[in-house]
Amino acid sequence: MISSKPKTGIPKQNRIFVNRSLNFGNIKLVGFDMDHTLAPYNKESFESLSFQKTLEKFIEAGYPQELSTFTYKHNFLIRGLMVDKERGNVLKVDSHKYVKDAYHGYKRLTKEERQTLYNQPGFNSQNFITVDTFFALSEVQLFVDLVQYNSDNPGRISKSFSEIYKDLRKFIDASHADGSIKNEVLRFPEKYLMKDKHLARTLVRLIDSGKRLFLLTNSQYAYTQSIMSYVLHQAHEDFDSWQDYWDYIIVGASKPGFFTGTQPFFEVQEHSGLLKVHSGSLTNAAFFGGNARLFESLTGFSGDEILYVGDHIYGDIIRSKGVLNWRTMLIIKELEEEIPKIENSLSYLQSMDEILEDKEALDEELQKIRSLKAATRRQLQRAYQTGDEKKIHNLETSDNRLEERLNNNKKLLKTMETRIKDLIEEREKMFHPIWGELMKVGLERSRFAHQVCNYACLYSSGVSNLRYYSPYKKFTSLLEKLPHEMHGK
Ligand SMILES: [Mg+2]
Repeated sequence: MISSKPKTGIPKQNRIFVNRSLNFGNIKLVGFDMDHTLAPYNKESFESLSFQKTLEKFIEAGYPQELSTFTYKHNFLIRGLMVDKERGNVLKVDSHKYVKDAYHGYKRLTKEERQTLYNQPGFNSQNFITVDTFFALSEVQLFVDLVQYNSDNPGRISKSFSEIYKDLRKFIDASHADGSIKNEVLRFPEKYLMKDKHLARTLVRLIDSGKRLFLLTNSQYAYTQSIMSYVLHQAHEDFDSWQDYWDYIIVGASKPGFFTGTQPFFEVQEHSGLLKVHSGSLTNAAFFGGNARLFESLTGFSGDEILYVGDHIYGDIIRSKGVLNWRTMLIIKELEEEIPKIENSLSYLQSMDEILEDKEALDEELQKIRSLKAATRRQLQRAYQTGDEKKIHNLETSDNRLEERLNNNKKLLKTMETRIKDLIEEREKMFHPIWGELMKVGLERSRFAHQVCNYACLYSSGVSNLRYYSPYKKFTSLLEKLPHEMHGK
């Protein structure tokens, strides 16, 4: 059993992992997303709220009344899945876009069905939706329920899956826009938000090291104000209000458009919440909208002097790194639970390695028998031609023996392959009973993991894990190593 506390003394689930080396000492400006980054939500209660509010809109729009019996199932989906909204399927895809598992409603597709629909040459997953954020979980869960309802009650909803999904998006946006969801969160923040008691200390540690901080969120000012006040309320004796932590506050940023667009900044009028056209420095107020290029020129910081921390691989990370070369840190909350499970599943990996090694030896043995058999067959042909009865008899006997050995070894190989498959499945069930580990598909990297490795310089389970590390720490990546440089056999 490997301890979850490595030599550094930092519990493994709280460590920061490095894809691309980063010298924290060179970072002058550290930015944070708000929702699910600085302010982690109680996933279950928040998603359930969003599910119910959106469902109400379906019924108001004339969908069957019986849908109101749907309840949010918090343990069916995970992040990183893809949605084929045309066919009504949810998929888990590996880094080579190979669909490894798929559900239609709650019915699992067979291997043959998956093969026919997806794993064909020319298959393109570009039009699929990805479950990148926690916010998307309730959306896709509702879609799964609607697809299942459609299978159980054919014809009751006279729309295609794509049309249903279009309605779903419209109703979710409406629930956000009309305040149905937000007002409820603001009324009972303790029910929907989780306070990170180390957050203030983590931010102050960065400030004390001379770094500047900024908040960059897509949420509107009034909501941001309420959430941040709750999250940082009396969190540090030197900071009276949540605004005091930040050098720059940007709300309504429309990420990822913020990183590529040209929208101007508007100053938010503190008391009325109204917006005023703005030019010049971004200090002493909160600003709405804007764009990253202008942000860089107004703050005087740019490119790899900036580290941006967010939880959305697409909205926060891919564009900020790709377009502006900002350094990035992705928050993957799931790691908090998954890392201890990975530690506990090491015995599975060990057993798998042992079997894979035996299998390799057996493959070699099989190849030897096949060669011997081929040679015997050639000799037999010659013996048939010469009519040497004794030789024919001896060669036929050896051929039969080789055939028997071949068949026994093939059976053994099959047993080993089944055992490996079983071990993979047993191991995956330790993580999620349906979809397995977030970052893996069987022994391969999941599509989600592939994106994390390509775009997030750093990743970790939470913002306040930064408190374990020096603000001058040189984060070094092991990924620079090529396969032939790895240790081991
Ligand atoms: Mg977020």
